[in-house]
Amino acid sequence: MTLQYSEIMVRYGELSTKKKNRKRFINKLQEHIQAVLTPFSQVTVRADYDRCHVFLNGADHGLVLEALEKVFGIQALNPAYQLPKDMAILTETVQAIMTDLYRDGLTFKISTKRSDHSFELDSRQLNQVLGSAVFDVLPDIKVQMKKPDVTLRVEIREEAAYLYHEEIKGAGGLPAGISGKGMLMMSGGIDSPVAGYLALKRGVSIEAVHFASPPYTSPAALQKARDLTRQLTKFGGNIRFIEVPFTEIQEELKDKVFDAYLMTLTRRFMMRITDRLRQDRNGLIIINGESLGQVASQTLESMQAINAVTNTPVIRPLVAMDKLDIIELAQKIDTFEISIQPFEDCCTIFAPDHPKTSPKLEKVEQYEARLDIEGLVNRAVAGITVTEITPQADPDAISDLIEDLL
Ligand code: ATP
Ligand code: MG
Repeated sequence: MTLQYSEIMVRYGELSTKKKNRKRFINKLQEHIQAVLTPFSQVTVRADYDRCHVFLNGADHGLVLEALEKVFGIQALNPAYQLPKDMAILTETVQAIMTDLYRDGLTFKISTKRSDHSFELDSRQLNQVLGSAVFDVLPDIKVQMKKPDVTLRVEIREEAAYLYHEEIKGAGGLPAGISGKGMLMMSGGIDSPVAGYLALKRGVSIEAVHFASPPYTSPAALQKARDLTRQLTKFGGNIRFIEVPFTEIQEELKDKVFDAYLMTLTRRFMMRITDRLRQDRNGLIIINGESLGQVASQTLESMQAINAVTNTPVIRPLVAMDKLDIIELAQKIDTFEISIQPFEDCCTIFAPDHPKTSPKLEKVEQYEARLDIEGLVNRAVAGITVTEITPQADPDAISDLIEDLL
């Protein structure tokens, strides 16, 4: 008997128990599942109340699993065999599966759930009958109730019977976009893409805001931020990338502000502009990659001074994470290699040698009194360029550029 998985069973993650929300969650998740599976034209998807069925119709189950593993809102994935509710067929298939998996010393158990109560045997009887059928063909196999090597699950449902023994962990989180929109402050560093990933994971759809100061920052630095954004589209679909012209503000600050306060004032401008863009584009929150104590701008005093320009919630998904843990995540989501390319960011170029780690709000306001804040912010906002970044490869991507040079 040749065994071929007929479907992937998709287990939902944290579901809201409220009926209306649950429906919205399931619909959104189904949309995303269908989107990542568009390359597999024969695959069909049916989302039920308690799980979603991805029917393979001959598609390679390994490739389909690989695509599904990235989708947020999925707790677990079980490649399964869908069978008619016929004891002869069930018995034969259970025997074939276990024979296929068998090796010396293997332990197993059969675990049955029967939701179709009209079926001829109850779940205890099914465990016994199918278990002894396994012994008929594999007399040396051992049953073990606690942590066996193989748990073969049998489900007898209204429409069919299902058999499965593999479970693959899903990406967890909530379906992309279900929580509303946030503005991600996207530098070219290691942290901000990871912060974006974690926000996406909790169902936030994002627009990426990047501050560029040409000619002090290079086209390659801008491209790097775009490449990082493209990497994030793999987890939640297209992302708008907003490039903000920041040169005028940086030159003005360099000219009029005492060095030690430069960083604080620069960050306050970034925050104001991001907040204005959020307002214009109906975002709900701002997300950044700050992590407590990492650099001078990330002390609690600095955060307070920078945050003081807005009442909008600023979400910092990395705030309590250690750098090594952030790097590990960056590697997992494939942004690390792009982030470590050496192109200068606008902040590094104008960075003072000794930035204030405990800026005083009073001082900050004195310096800002010398500036035309409204005018500077308005001109930056008026000068933005918005592009849509898609998961497709970009001919200008830095990784390709570097490959070409090698
Ligand atoms: P990252 O690795 O994300 O650059 P970092 O540890 O280098 O973070 P900073 O460069 O001080 O820290 O920046 C803190 C946060 O401010 C960044 O995570 C990002 O959200 C935002 N930020 C910094 N520079 C820019 C920029 N040029 N454009 C947009 N956001 C920026
Ligand atoms: Mg940085």
